[in-house]
Amino acid sequence: MTPTAEEKATEPNSYTTICPEIIATGSGTYGRFLETVTARMKQFSADGFMLDYECRPPLCYCDRCRLAFERYTKLTDEKWPEDVRKDGRYYRQWIGFRCDQGARYVKAIGEAARRAKPGCSLQAWIAGYDYAGTIESAQIDLSKAAEYLTEPEVPHYTLPDDYSDMWMKDGGIYTIEAGIKTVQDSLNVTNKPIVFCSSIIYPLGSATPWSDPQLLNAQMLAIIGQGARGISFWGGHDDGSLDGRYLHMLAKWNAVLAAAGPFLWDGKRDDTAVGIQGADPNLVRKYVWLLKDKALVFVVNLTQQNQTVRVQSKRPAHDLLTGRPLDLSQPLSVPALEAAMVIVEG
Ligand SMILES: [Zn+2]
Repeated sequence: MTPTAEEKATEPNSYTTICPEIIATGSGTYGRFLETVTARMKQFSADGFMLDYECRPPLCYCDRCRLAFERYTKLTDEKWPEDVRKDGRYYRQWIGFRCDQGARYVKAIGEAARRAKPGCSLQAWIAGYDYAGTIESAQIDLSKAAEYLTEPEVPHYTLPDDYSDMWMKDGGIYTIEAGIKTVQDSLNVTNKPIVFCSSIIYPLGSATPWSDPQLLNAQMLAIIGQGARGISFWGGHDDGSLDGRYLHMLAKWNAVLAAAGPFLWDGKRDDTAVGIQGADPNLVRKYVWLLKDKALVFVVNLTQQNQTVRVQSKRPAHDLLTGRPLDLSQPLSVPALEAAMVIVEG
């Protein structure tokens, strides 16, 4: 895809040389590329489009971008481009504009996809909200791009190492914790259903805890408890093989999503609605969802020891997955790296 001289970004990068405003408006050479997206989707009867949205658009200080900046910010007195460069007086406004430009890029692709299949899904693998400062560094703002997506997919890499101290205080639970946090940061800024993409590459064998899918289990259950409405899995060994030990986990997480679905989709999260006692809240996480007169309580044990908690409710209760009655006057046990998921009845 070669842009005309007039369509070129003033500072092309290795991903593209096209002015990001040409991309965001789906015009010119980029518009013709989008026609091929529509044609391909029709040809293969695609159900939707998934975008790998993780790259910064090229910097561009052309007149077209300047006019678009003025439209977005309603500013007219800028010294271009000095005022929008770092430390310039309109740098923050320019970051906001660039995030909007990137979001319109997502919108243009969605429109091309829907010319092939009206109403089809548009997902994107997109950095969590301001993950590692991506709003400023890459001008990717999930809260803006999510407007044009049916499901934003928030990834987090869980990388292997010798994490023998990972459960110590301050040493922290590290990437498990970081994944939980980046999904929560994203849930805070959009109502669109967020899919968590667990991205893990780990060595085979028992040399590190990463050969044990239990750690991912605890992370997944915490993230579903927070309100992720789907999961995906980008995983592999560093030698390229697949690990069958994860397959039953996928079935289980799917069952949790299905059983909790009415709460996650139609309910409201209110972690204060039901209390628990008996465990460090950093290590045993609690998430509460309300739907009509019922509550769903996730108690997720992020430690490698079994834990016992008391759920502060006198109402009848049962287990989310099995339907087995639970007597909340008795302590509730939560196995290591597992969750208790309790429906408190009305
Ligand atoms: Zn431009």
